[in-house]
Amino acid sequence: MTYNWCHGPECHTQQTQSRVRGSGDNKVLRTIRIKQGGSYRTHEHYSMFNYFCNQRCLMDFIRTHLTSIIAIAPRREALETPIKVEKTKSQDYRMRYNGNDYERVPYTSTRTTISRVDNDWSFLYSPRYENN
Ligand SMILES: [Zn+2]
Repeated sequence: MTYNWCHGPECHTQQTQSRVRGSGDNKVLRTIRIKQGGSYRTHEHYSMFNYFCNQRCLMDFIRTHLTSIIAIAPRREALETPIKVEKTKSQDYRMRYNGNDYERVPYTSTRTTISRVDNDWSFLYSPRYENN
């Protein structure tokens, strides 16, 4: 069985029983040791919490090392996702009380749907480009 020490920079200062080590007058709060190989977590959490004992330690780490983390994969320009925006009108009715009874009042509702347009790059591999 392998272990990681929690990478949270403040892990060893959080006052919990699980961090207390030592005896008598030589007690300390110690960084949490994380056992590897758990299988009950989702893959994403599993990999993240292999290195951090909890959310706070993860966020402390990010705060402390934010500049370095951003430097790994800086975003220098905006990304774009091709979409199709469709407005569809539909005739509907609502019920209105006119003092005596309810009547159907027609109204037009407009629904906006944003759907993703996945680029089809398959033309790159079509036969007419193959012999260029
Ligand atoms: Zn921790």
